[in-house]
This record gives sequence, C-alpha cells and structure tokens, in this order.
Amino acid sequence: MVMFENLKILFHQGKQFIPDPTTVQIPGIFRGRPYISGEKVDETELIELCPTDAISSNPISIDLGKCTFCGECAMRFPEKITFTKEYKIATNERDRLIIKEGENKPVEVNPETVRKEIHRVFGKSLKLRQISAGGDNSCEMELNAANNVQFDMSRYGIEFVASPRHADGIVITGPMTKNMAEAVQICYDAMPEPKIIVLVGTDAISGGIFADSPAIDRSFLGKYQIDLYIPGNPAHPLSIVNGLLDLTRKLK
Ligand code: SF4
Repeated sequence: MVMFENLKILFHQGKQFIPDPTTVQIPGIFRGRPYISGEKVDETELIELCPTDAISSNPISIDLGKCTFCGECAMRFPEKITFTKEYKIATNERDRLIIKEGENKPVEVNPETVRKEIHRVFGKSLKLRQISAGGDNSCEMELNAANNVQFDMSRYGIEFVASPRHADGIVITGPMTKNMAEAVQICYDAMPEPKIIVLVGTDAISGGIFADSPAIDRSFLGKYQIDLYIPGNPAHPLSIVNGLLDLTRKLK
C-alpha cells in the first residue's frame, strides 16, 4: 500500500531534474535578454523612468549590469522594448552586457579573452566559494538552486565549497558593502592560484540600486580582472549554470 502511494507521488511529480540545462526552454513569465526596436519614442521619458540609470541614448541601449529587470520600460514602451526569454546572458566582458537598439544577438563569453589557464585547469572541475557582500539573499538563493536536484550544476563538476582554501574561485553577490570589503579581500587572498572572480547579479556587477550609497566600497573590483559577469536581479540558475559552463568549457 505504501509502495502504491509512493508510486502515485512519483507519477504526480514527474521528472524532478532538467535533462539538459543548456537547451531547456523556460516556461511561464521570464525576463531575459531585452530587445530594443527602432521605434521612435520619447527618449527622455524612457531614460528617466529607469530606477538604476541602465538606459542610455545615442543609440538607445540597456546595460544589463545595471538593469534590475523590473520591466517598467517594457510596460511603458512595449513598442520599443521587449524582454526575450533568453537566459544565456553571462559574459566575461563588461561591454557585452550593453544591449543596443536594433541588436538581436546573444550575450556570450568571448573565448578569445578568457584567461588561458581557465580552460586548462577548471575545464572538468570547478570549486567555488560564495561570499555575500551585503546581498539580500536573492542571488544567494538562486546560487543554491543551481545546485539543487533540478538544475544540478554538480553534474558538470561545478560545486560550492565551505573554505576558500579549497576553492578555485570566488562568487560575489551583493553591492560590496564597506563592512564586507575586508572579508572579501581575505577570502580572495586565501585561495590558491590560479583563481577566478565571478560577479552574480546586478548589485554585484554595478551596485544596482545601491550604486550611490556611501555604505559601499567596491575598490576590490578595480584591482583584479573579473572573469565572469552573470546578470539578473536575481540571476536565474540557468544563467548561472550556462555562464560557468561557457567560461570553463572550450566553446565549440
Ligand atoms: S527593466 Fe531594466 S532598463 Fe527597464 S526600467 Fe527596469 S531597470 Fe531600467
């Protein structure tokens, strides 16, 4: 009888994992890479409505490193801005996060500028230490989800570890508060070479809505090369998994 009940539950729940997180379609509502059409709109109004100054002019563009994916611009100017469901939006070059009017191409890692040792050393195994530098626990939860049974990032040999001594890279979330600045530096210094730096979420990439706050100290980021930017507010687990795979695996 118990077995029958268990089988009923299994049948009801269906498959509990995503067979291939690199090709799956996201069901339901999701804001991924935006598309900006050539329609003429009131540019001043469009630029001013953005809470994080993510929209610029000449040409109209959206900086995914600043965008909170609130959707306000697409709701007010649906003829101008639409959000696709494209979740592969991570890159190793900050400039590639800027989506320009009329452009409809993927945001990708540039294999030419990935540090050579990354493929060689981390191509089959990557251990990461996560540090929340004033984060609100949203990106942290999504990083956790990237390793759950559904997304199962560990199937690719990518896992989080407790100690920076065991880590190949640091994954930073949050806008980098002054109170966490020293902790981030200590964590980074404790890791053996070679090591990578990954920024996850709008707050980590640009400061987000806290960019002008006197309580943040982002000087750490100016000292080192950032190996991967994973935008989102919070970043989606599929953006996280695919970004890390694209960085560490040789692209075909
Ligand atoms: S979705 Fe992004 S670009 Fe649009 S208004 Fe919100 S923060 Fe600004």
